Amino acid sequence: MWVDLVVEEILREAPSHRHVVNDAKTPSGHIHVGALRGVLLHDCVTRGLRDAGADVEYIYGFDDYDPMDDLPVYLPRDYERYLGVPFCNVPAPEGGGESYARYYAQEFIDVFTRLGATPGVYWTSDLYRSGRFNEAIRIALDRAQEIREIDREIRGSRGLEGRYPLHVICQQCGRIGTTAVVAWDGREVEYECRPDLVRWAQGCGHRGRTAPFDGHAKLPYRVEWAAKWFVLGVTVEGAGKDHFTRGGTHDVASAFCTRIFGARVPHPIPYEFFLYGGKKMSSSRAVGAFARDLAEAMRPELLRFLMVRPHPRKQIDFDPAGDTIPRLYDEYDRAAEAAQGEAEDRDLARTFYFSRVAGDPPRGFRPRFSKVAFLIQMPTVDARRVLERDKGAPYTAEDERELEQRISDARRWLERFALPPARFTLQAELPEAARALTDAQRQFLRRLAEIVQAEAWEGEPLHTRIHELKEEMGLTPREAFGAIYLIVLGKDSGPQAGWFLATLDREFVMRRLREASAAPASAGE
Ligand SMILES: [Zn+2]
Repeated sequence: MWVDLVVEEILREAPSHRHVVNDAKTPSGHIHVGALRGVLLHDCVTRGLRDAGADVEYIYGFDDYDPMDDLPVYLPRDYERYLGVPFCNVPAPEGGGESYARYYAQEFIDVFTRLGATPGVYWTSDLYRSGRFNEAIRIALDRAQEIREIDREIRGSRGLEGRYPLHVICQQCGRIGTTAVVAWDGREVEYECRPDLVRWAQGCGHRGRTAPFDGHAKLPYRVEWAAKWFVLGVTVEGAGKDHFTRGGTHDVASAFCTRIFGARVPHPIPYEFFLYGGKKMSSSRAVGAFARDLAEAMRPELLRFLMVRPHPRKQIDFDPAGDTIPRLYDEYDRAAEAAQGEAEDRDLARTFYFSRVAGDPPRGFRPRFSKVAFLIQMPTVDARRVLERDKGAPYTAEDERELEQRISDARRWLERFALPPARFTLQAELPEAARALTDAQRQFLRRLAEIVQAEAWEGEPLHTRIHELKEEMGLTPREAFGAIYLIVLGKDSGPQAGWFLATLDREFVMRRLREASAAPASAGE
């Protein structure tokens, strides 16, 4: 299991070290589900380090001093005037929360808390305002020339030329993304709020002087990243693979960290993207699912399992439509079996361990998800009774809880993601469309009625007999099963026929088969 390998590597590098695991996100809008990969990856590594006896703290920062640099499509257009303003100073939408940053961050915190991740949350604005970043700011200003050289050497960028690596909050317009610091005398900086410094916001043209400490200014992104490692003593921090290109943000921040702040670069864990239906997600554009949406669509352990199972270097492409969730549930159940010693697979057992939300893992009897989804759609079937028979013993309180969870998950799945074959309604009358059955199909249904009368009324044998009959009569699956679905469900697809029929009333099935296999009344009668 990859978590165990990462933990081993970290401990090999720094065996008796106190560890600070850090992750961060800019609260620029509804946070997308992709950001959960980072949260859970760091949560698992923290869990692994703690299990190995390390002294470890997991912290999660919201970069609320970052400027708003794009307008999410779901916001009113009058938010345009806040472009360039730090998120912590932008008002919350819909009248909620203390600020824009806190509003969207809280939504995300609620999601990851439900998933069992409980890092110590900090706000970058607090690091600046409380003075904790003062030393880093002074170092960055004093050594601005070296910072410019590193930026040029590693990134090939001349963006910092002619200015200092710092953005002051403009005392006139409140923007932070538009200001350039042009002088530093060891006590105060001189800055200009430029109309053309960035494309996404327009500065007001103000020129001013201020002390750069205690929240009056912020470091540029790459310097700030290094400053966090230095100030917070971060020892482990992963990031999306886009940060790890040669000369990319991680390379530059690492150089600042060692050469400017004299600190150690945290153990890096590059990870691949989480794609939603094939698309990479961004917080400000309405592409893909928001974290809260997916958290509402799946139980926490399943969402954790989805994120934790693949190696970080493997891309996850998740599309909840169709059979994705039932298949994921099956895989999750296999992991549960492995964890409970019912199957031999150490990797899956460890994956299950890291998919746990908190406390003891759910231990109840696990009826197959697709079967639950199917049974709850059967009007005459007591799903609980059928599944209790599957277990072969009376349900315990824990079994009941697990079943309830699966039933509510199945309802949600059927409503939102299941494709038509998984959704059906039993037809009280023989559907009109049955008139179109061929003679061969009628013959098939007639003989099936005989089987239904004689065979044990159970899924497995019935399933086998239907297949045999289909082979014997030389029908295609579409002709044979299509006929069954048509006369019972009024459509050409449905759940596995033998199991399905066996959940219905036997008399009803026989009557329907006989009625459908009779020659159709001719038109006009
Ligand atoms: Zn300004």
